[in-house]
Amino acid sequence: MKPVYLDNNATTMVAPEVLEEMLPFFGELYGNPSSMHTFGGQVGIRLKQARTDIAEVLGCRADELIFTSCGSEGDNTAILSALAAQPEKRHLITTRVEHPAVLSLAKHLEEKGYEVTLLGVDESGRLDIEELKGAIRKDTALVSVMYANNETGTIFPIPEIAALCKARGVLFHTDAVQAVGKVDIDLEKLPVDMLVLSGHKLHAPKGVGVLYVRRGTPFRPFLIGGHQERGRRAGTENTAGIIGLATAMKLAKANMASENSTVKALRDRLESGLLASIPHSQINGDIGHRLPNTSSIAFKFVEGEAILLMLDQYGICASSGSACTSGSLEPSHVLRAMGVPFTFAHGSIRFSLSRYTTDAEIDLVLDKLPGIIETLRRMSPFTEESMPKPACTC
Ligand SMILES: *Cc1c(COP(=O)(O)O)cnc(C)c1O
Repeated sequence: MKPVYLDNNATTMVAPEVLEEMLPFFGELYGNPSSMHTFGGQVGIRLKQARTDIAEVLGCRADELIFTSCGSEGDNTAILSALAAQPEKRHLITTRVEHPAVLSLAKHLEEKGYEVTLLGVDESGRLDIEELKGAIRKDTALVSVMYANNETGTIFPIPEIAALCKARGVLFHTDAVQAVGKVDIDLEKLPVDMLVLSGHKLHAPKGVGVLYVRRGTPFRPFLIGGHQERGRRAGTENTAGIIGLATAMKLAKANMASENSTVKALRDRLESGLLASIPHSQINGDIGHRLPNTSSIAFKFVEGEAILLMLDQYGICASSGSACTSGSLEPSHVLRAMGVPFTFAHGSIRFSLSRYTTDAEIDLVLDKLPGIIETLRRMSPFTEESMPKPACTC
């Protein structure tokens, strides 16, 4: 059975156009792009073309791109590089709502003796720019703020933050994994020093990503070995993945405006339908500044995991946000940072749509979810008092 896939912020389907471009590189075109012979060289030519295509989509130079294995690798490389290249600076600024690829690393660095400032957000997930200004110090090595939040879709004012960091002479990195393909990004105009994206979030395959490093930015490699990526990231290139990524990025760019408006219309219909038919429900996030595909909806007095299990019986795939590693009933760190009341945060579901989402799929959710919530509320009549309380502070 084909799933009703509304979990595109977790990963996306490889676009058929992307798969088609990639297939020869799993077959006859298996040469090493660095080889001297023509057989490998022809792959090298295609790799170079993919790099040029991606640079054109992003508005940067081809030699500013470093291919990685994933978004997490890009984020780790960017942050560790900024610290290694400026050993006298021991302070890092990021936010409480980052993806674990940034937040867990920040916590790890804190244990290693670095100082970390975690910026908070307000109830709709917005940052306070004044707080950021106040947090920048002489020994700040890097400011890292995500472009768009994976759980609520909230878009941060990255142009403004990047300009601020530039004016203060502090390196700035943005985790743009959820933004690339959905938000128009032009690196010629956007003064970020480093930016990360990941293929599998925009209909390219898993196992490929990009770390953009602006020319002149101090850089220290994370993977040391061969001379690939101009000595900035060792390892034989994922040629099929990179070529697929270039195709996916060109596709996303060419159709962005029309896809965004179609996807947003579906998302808005889903939200207004659910809010109208399910009492005690609300939207999490900055409603006016969100990714068009993302909806985080809270249903008071129910458990997100129970909702997901019941949706799963109809083949509907959604997410309850990143659960705490302890396996307790802790809601996501993003919703907690926003101060979403526990009774709501606990029953929050993220629906994330894509260009492949259909009207019929939205209809199915609108048809099934109100009954699911009603059943769950009848089964476990939580009240403000009986609602399980946070068990951990992670
Ligand atoms: C998915 C995601 C990542 C991690 O990307 P991977 O390619 O899965 O390592 C990082 N940041 C954000 C915002 C994400 O959504």
